[in-house]
Amino acid sequence: MKTIENINFKGERVIIRVDYNVPFEGDKITDKTRIESSKETIDLILNNGGRVILLTHIGRPNGFEKKFSCKLIVKEVSETLGREVLFCNTTIGIEAEKKSKMLKPGEIILMENVRFHTEETEGEIDFAKKLSRLGTVFVNDAFGSAHRAHASTCIIAQFFSKKYFGKLLEKEVASIRKVIRNGKKPVLAIIGGAKISTKITIIESLMNSVTDILIGGGMAYTFIKAQGGSIGDSICEKDFCDYSIQLLEKAKARNIKIHLPKDVIIANRFDNKADRKVSKIDKIPAGWQGLDIGPGSIQALKPIVKKSKTILWNGPLGVFEFDNFSKGTVELGNMISEATKEGSFSLVGGGDSVLAVKKFGFSNKMSYVSTGGGAMLESLEGKELPGIKALS
Ligand code: AMP
Repeated sequence: MKTIENINFKGERVIIRVDYNVPFEGDKITDKTRIESSKETIDLILNNGGRVILLTHIGRPNGFEKKFSCKLIVKEVSETLGREVLFCNTTIGIEAEKKSKMLKPGEIILMENVRFHTEETEGEIDFAKKLSRLGTVFVNDAFGSAHRAHASTCIIAQFFSKKYFGKLLEKEVASIRKVIRNGKKPVLAIIGGAKISTKITIIESLMNSVTDILIGGGMAYTFIKAQGGSIGDSICEKDFCDYSIQLLEKAKARNIKIHLPKDVIIANRFDNKADRKVSKIDKIPAGWQGLDIGPGSIQALKPIVKKSKTILWNGPLGVFEFDNFSKGTVELGNMISEATKEGSFSLVGGGDSVLAVKKFGFSNKMSYVSTGGGAMLESLEGKELPGIKALS
């Protein structure tokens, strides 16, 4: 991994591909995590003499769309970085190149949304070459987009001999490696969420790295159904029943323990205010569905989390959006926080588990919370991400 730590950027114009694809409500940014996460890289490069050109995408625009303009985020970026940030209303071309060349050491310019050009997502080489003319060094810090072979995330890298991992990208990659390559044993993976179909390849490739897998959330019911249990109206993907049996057999052959919840909280409809009761997971009556893990499962989980030296958490253990069915997810958060305090390494990543961790205030209690959804999931599947490969 070529990192920026000890590089002298004096005289260099450094293109940093960041991921400022932040969520909006109207024109207000509702979560600035991605902007905050870029600060360390930008500070380091500026403090080491560089000038900074920021490239990002926002949303999925169809050509120019005002609501996706980077102009909307300049003020927030500037406030978050604690530095003045200039804006260029084009991304490539004479004007953009002129503005980047006029930058003085210590200055930052944010270019307009790279996705206003369709060539960006097409990974078009000429467009990437035009982007590369904005700088003399390329730094990728956009982990959230590293699984895309787009012009500014991947193709651009070939035009630079000086290309580096930004601090965020470095941390994301190091955290994943700490789990899937050299995790201190026992290594526990907790895989929750709604659907087994979206997680099956992850579970399969994690078998190369872990000692224990806990399967929670909606997908547990497919495993129970496959083994002949009664799951009532719980979420189930029947097409994956055979596959889930194969996974169980594969795990057994490799001496990997798969833990499934023993009891669950069932509801008579998919609603926070539904009637609730505890049930064995394989004896759920018709008309009822499992929406959270039960008290027995929570107790059974405690020693497993406690003994694990490396913990990966992907996906909630229940419908955490409903207060009445969030207990399993909250208790798991507490257990992982405790284990982390005791010295275990914990990584939370991929979509809804990150939302859950933020919602219940666990963000600072985990060793690392990933900023990437799709990129994280693809990394866990063991894939080499194009944006990362392009830097080597
Ligand atoms: P995923 O994006 O696959 O990680 O799934 C996250 C979603 O799974 C969340 O919105 C949860 O509400 C949902 N989920 C978790 N457990 C269950 C369950 N037992 N039944 C239905 N949905 C669930």
